[in-house]
Amino acid sequence: MNCEEQLRLWVSGEPMHNDEGDECTPDLACCRGKKVMAPESERQAFLDAYLAGDRPTCKTLISKFLTAILSVDFPDLDIQVNGFEWGKDADQ
Ligand SMILES: [Zn+2]
Repeated sequence: MNCEEQLRLWVSGEPMHNDEGDECTPDLACCRGKKVMAPESERQAFLDAYLAGDRPTCKTLISKFLTAILSVDFPDLDIQVNGFEWGKDADQ
């Protein structure tokens, strides 16, 4: 399964861990469960940005997804992950 196939499954509501590259979906829902899965509109926005090569938008959305995951883990904290520098081109 390549990244695009994984992202398309995720957008359709099936978060699958990619064993080929050992990669999680952008919101980690494959390994953390659907309780941390991003809304469909944001999943689609991520896929669109990925296909367009729009890395800044991908990074912004990943920051948003991380904030949601941390909010599940630490419900008593008011967590913001704005402007998070997500490993520059680390997945290239
Ligand atoms: Zn995973």
